[in-house]
Amino acid sequence: AENVIEKDTVIIGSGPGGYVAAIRASELGQDVAIIEKSDTVGGVCLNVGCVPSKALITAGHRLQQAKDSSTYGISTSDAVIDFTKTQAWKDEKVVARMTNGVQMLLKKHHVELINGEAYLDSDTQLRIMPSGERQFMDNGGGQTIKFKNLILATGSRPIEIRGFKFQDRVIDSTGGLNLKEVPKEFVIIGGGYVGTELAGAYADLGSHVTILEGSPNIIPNFEKDMVSIVKKNLEKKGVTIITNAMAKSSEQKADSVDVTYEVDGKPSTITADYCMVTVGRRPNTDNFGLEMTNVKTNDRGLVEVDEQGKTSVDHIYAIGDITPGPALAHKAFFEAKTVAGAISGKNTANDYIGVPAVCFTDPELASVGLTEKDAKDKGIEVKTAKFPFAGNARAVSLDAAEGFVKLIAQKDTGTLLGGQIVGPGASDLISELSVAINCQLNAEDIALTIHPHPTLGEPIQEAADILIGYPTHI
Ligand code: FAD
Repeated sequence: AENVIEKDTVIIGSGPGGYVAAIRASELGQDVAIIEKSDTVGGVCLNVGCVPSKALITAGHRLQQAKDSSTYGISTSDAVIDFTKTQAWKDEKVVARMTNGVQMLLKKHHVELINGEAYLDSDTQLRIMPSGERQFMDNGGGQTIKFKNLILATGSRPIEIRGFKFQDRVIDSTGGLNLKEVPKEFVIIGGGYVGTELAGAYADLGSHVTILEGSPNIIPNFEKDMVSIVKKNLEKKGVTIITNAMAKSSEQKADSVDVTYEVDGKPSTITADYCMVTVGRRPNTDNFGLEMTNVKTNDRGLVEVDEQGKTSVDHIYAIGDITPGPALAHKAFFEAKTVAGAISGKNTANDYIGVPAVCFTDPELASVGLTEKDAKDKGIEVKTAKFPFAGNARAVSLDAAEGFVKLIAQKDTGTLLGGQIVGPGASDLISELSVAINCQLNAEDIALTIHPHPTLGEPIQEAADILIGYPTHI
């Protein structure tokens, strides 16, 4: 048929998984097409995830600094925010700049970008429809592509919960990032990464935020002694944190929303300007014809893959949020490179030993490898060391001497198994520990590496000094 094209490698989705797979596959000599249904490339991360959320966090920090720098002898006149301008900066100078950059990179690498929605017909062929026109598919419309290799990178979408249908004032994270005004009262259901980061940002921007978290702790994937520092700071910003809170129902009014929740079976209602639900994400594996293939998904709808990212069909691969493991952009980047290599005949494999987790709270949280508890649960004998930022000159001079670095090493060999950082710059500092763990360095390797002074990286070396038995500044 005239409307059929053939391609070596086709990728569905241009998020961190898809676009990186496209670039790498092209570098390795493949003829690559990438299909994206959205108007812009970059997926959730660049458009409505990692990047815009960090921009709002920055704006919040700037406002707070502008409002109060009296500690440093700086008096400022009343700082006010024009949130329309804040949002325009985020959209045009941050998000658009990054997505345009990715589009340029795809072009530079001769990747064919096809705008439209992909729908699988079989293990070897798919159809592309203009976005939102899938209903015409039964008439055989659209363009057919036959592929040798297919990489699924369709990502994930927010979960909706009962009683909280998304509408004007009951919003998901995308709505939360794109608000036109700073809410006076903002209820956030779900105190995971996304909820807690945005809680901090909006509190800094002027909202009274209430976090309703169903479990006993916010950001439960980080250790308690780390989270308690963040929690204290959120409360200092005026955030109300209600744990063990079950969100029950919402009632949207003309210009507000009533949010009802229960703690120990006792109901309460908060009237808010907006209620954002950030309780997790579900993989996009149920809406593009995956059932027409032999690709297997598990009971959570995730695509099962081997260590090369291969699905149950030999020439179909999957990466990013639709595969098991943490739903993080850098996990998707990594898997993308593995899969592109595998398709090109390289001996690549995913190894998750050094995958860091970061949360952009105040202060930031970061973790890589095992925690002390993980090690105990695995029956590994470890030694640990903790060094506080209070003992670090750079942190003190930044007026940010809060938090600590903790290292976990194998007891007999000193091999580093894990590290956690809560404190200024944790998101950047964790990379040193990722390298250390990935390369199976030991505490002595870190202790004997000269770290520049005065810098926030020194507490890592100080903790290593403790591990080898010769603490310096403690
Ligand atoms: P996605 O980014 O979801 O991209 C999938 C793409 O596929 C989309 O562009 C979609 O339009 C397209 N698509 C889907 N189906 C089709 C189809 N049938 N046809 C054509 N195109 C299709 N992670 C971090 O590591 N750090 C952070 O700080 C961070 N912050 C976040 C903040 C928020 C508010 C959110 C929501 C997420 C955040 N994440 C963060 C998670 C991160 O965004 C995801 O892990 C990452 O985007 C996953 O990449 P992906 O390539 O798997 O999929």
